Amino acid sequence: MRQIRRAAVIGSGVMGAQIAAHLANVGIPSLLLDLVPQALTAEEQKKGLSLDHPAVRNRLATEAIRRLQKMSPAPLFRADYAKLITPGNLEDDLHRIAEVDWVIEVIVESLEPKRQLLERIEQYWHEGMIVSTNTSGISINAMVEGRSEAFRRHFLGTHFFNPPRYMKLLEVIPGRDTDPAIVEFMRGFGTERLGKGVVLAKDTPNFIANRIGTYGLLVTVEEMQKGGFTVEEVDAITGPALGRPKSATFRTLDLVGIDTFVHVANNVRENVTDPAEQRAFEVPAAIQKLLELGWLGEKSGQGFYKRVKQNGQRQILVLDLDTFEYREQKKVASAALEASKQAKGAAGKAKALLQGGDRYAELAWNIVKRVLVYSAEKVGEIADTIQDIDAAMRWGFNWDLGPFELWDALGLVQTAERMQAEGLQLPQWVKDWIAAGHRAFYEKQDGKLTMPVNGKPEPVRVPAGVIDLAALKKAGKVIAQNTGASLIDLGDGVACLEFHSQNNAIGPDILTMIEKSVAIAEKDFAGLVIANQGKNFCVGANLVLILMAAQEGDWDEIDLSIRQFHRAMLALRYSQVPVVAAPHRMTLGGGVEVCLASSRVLPAAETYFGLVEVGVGVIPGGGGCKETARRVAESVGPEDDLVPVLARMFQAIGTAKVSTSGAEALAMGWLREADRVVVNDDLRISAAKAEVLRMAELGYTAPPKAKEIRVAGRDGKATLQMAARGMWNGGYITDYDLHIAYKLAHVLAGGDVPAGSYVSEDYLLDLEREAFLSLCGEPKTIQRMQHMLATGKPLRN
Ligand code: NAD
Repeated sequence: MRQIRRAAVIGSGVMGAQIAAHLANVGIPSLLLDLVPQALTAEEQKKGLSLDHPAVRNRLATEAIRRLQKMSPAPLFRADYAKLITPGNLEDDLHRIAEVDWVIEVIVESLEPKRQLLERIEQYWHEGMIVSTNTSGISINAMVEGRSEAFRRHFLGTHFFNPPRYMKLLEVIPGRDTDPAIVEFMRGFGTERLGKGVVLAKDTPNFIANRIGTYGLLVTVEEMQKGGFTVEEVDAITGPALGRPKSATFRTLDLVGIDTFVHVANNVRENVTDPAEQRAFEVPAAIQKLLELGWLGEKSGQGFYKRVKQNGQRQILVLDLDTFEYREQKKVASAALEASKQAKGAAGKAKALLQGGDRYAELAWNIVKRVLVYSAEKVGEIADTIQDIDAAMRWGFNWDLGPFELWDALGLVQTAERMQAEGLQLPQWVKDWIAAGHRAFYEKQDGKLTMPVNGKPEPVRVPAGVIDLAALKKAGKVIAQNTGASLIDLGDGVACLEFHSQNNAIGPDILTMIEKSVAIAEKDFAGLVIANQGKNFCVGANLVLILMAAQEGDWDEIDLSIRQFHRAMLALRYSQVPVVAAPHRMTLGGGVEVCLASSRVLPAAETYFGLVEVGVGVIPGGGGCKETARRVAESVGPEDDLVPVLARMFQAIGTAKVSTSGAEALAMGWLREADRVVVNDDLRISAAKAEVLRMAELGYTAPPKAKEIRVAGRDGKATLQMAARGMWNGGYITDYDLHIAYKLAHVLAGGDVPAGSYVSEDYLLDLEREAFLSLCGEPKTIQRMQHMLATGKPLRN
């Protein structure tokens, strides 16, 4: 079976280095090659190096790898993954590509150098080796003119978006001669191994997302100038109000770089033949002027916006396109915008804006209608399906809805009528589709979603393994439910407990559902998955309830809540059937405790995992301290010193450390060897389901009730407290942090017992509960909780 075990990335610039990093993230080692420098740096001269020294010859790639470890947001899941990338240069090391299964070209965006490089690559090419290009818009076919047929069969475009770790889109672009089996392989590899959302694009200028996206930006500038709008007005309209990112139009341009944008727009203009389309891709005078002035956006310190410091205050000024001077931004007030803000969901917001009835609504409509029609015109030319276009815009430009999804949300037929009444020409296929009686592009037929393909409804492609909890709920698969959570039948004997409270915070409703779900799963299912498809897995326990009880001095209420939390976590831990938690994104406090109580954890690649309770003035109170102590005891031999490991965990809880990825969560010490990262978030729940089935098949048995847990005792506690005092002395933590750290040390060490004592699980849970309760009675804890609820940020009082 074809596999990619090793890769070579050629070009170690912005994209090449980050692509190598993402390969490292998924365990694929790569060679990273770049040009040999022609001159020494001052530092190299000082060291007495010459141009033929390997350190100089590999400098570009070596430095790129070093930079990867410092970049923010981090391209690597863990900084030490950089070890998987081997630097080299194109003169000494190109022959080494003969050892790899995939070579990806990521050099300068220009046809001739790319052609020449591919010619050199062919010298080391062997049957089976895949070669691809990361070009943003150059013709794939043109690049391999002159290459052998066998080479061309193995060549295609693989267009990652920047930054490649975080941007979901991967455009796969077959050339005229690419072997369809390789296209299919890359589609599967991109989805399952790299975790990307793959769309198939055709070999046309700028492929899908950049073609539609650039058109949209140009149309926006045109409509803006027609209507006399300002930069900030356009950004207010074309951001979240329209289901698009906050960076909207002009901030996006500043981020992308005006020069890059002009290059991309010119690439389309020079390579399309329709005069109207050529005109549409002409760069407006204002943008041309920015280019000439060198005001290229973020990278040159100013573009459509400019950050300044005035009277000690940071400010972002906006460019006035009439005077070409920067001025303060003016607040945009519009009824349509307000209506959009109040509306729910991307479709609701866009509808509210477009139907808002003021001049802003009109501007939005004038932009949107042209983007919708242009997208429809390009079906068949840039992509075979509307699904590929919609997905490319969602994954590549972070739009909430692709053009056809938005069109459906606005009402296909009414929208089409309005467009025609306003003089727009619709593509024939859209007219035919409506004339055939269809009311939407995407329609349900026999429970399956379909879309128009050559005038007929065809099923929408769903990659194997995608589970949609909302769809299952709609299809009546709910087994039990309350306000905070639902138990859903995933089929094949596996149930899924989904949290859906506000922010997925854990309150009594979720705790009740946990106990109930375990009971149902033990009776009727092979096992249980705990996962959801909300914004975050779980931000922790419901603070509002704890704060209210604390303010009222209702200690019994808090005591009962902790006991309920402990009961639910023990139910998970001692469940007779396997429980697999599959967290994603923010997984904090109580969310982590749910994972620690589960039999296995499969975090998403993007999981930000941490016991952060000290940020709100308490310690983990849902079994997190007990589980930490238990895991530390289990991780060392019966005679070994517990304190070094315990001290590491103590520091992580004491400083509210949060992992920057699922891989880092695995390395923090709470998770176990069998736990593993699921790279593609769309496949997370099916991976968890498969894990449940595998564990059940192997004859799962619940862990024996932990009777005796070895603890560090009073000596260990003293060591932890001393470490905390050191942090306090150094000014790293506040007086109140120290106070909490003392309590944390007390619980984690098992209280005032001799070192190496054996204690029960219940004893540790009691210590945890007492410490949590006592902290809830302190004014500074109340302040921390209030601050977190008001601002979403921790207070360091
Ligand atoms: P870059 O300028 O940061 O890096 C290009 C690298 O290629 C440099 O390290 C340079 O030393 C090397 N190089 C230049 N000429 C070469 C040659 N003749 N032979 C070998 N190496 C050479 O560029 P980038 O932004 O990383 O873009 C690389 C490719 O990726 C381009 O095709 C670009 O269109 C595409 N791309 C870029 C982005 C982006 O946002 N930057 C996004 C998607 C795709």
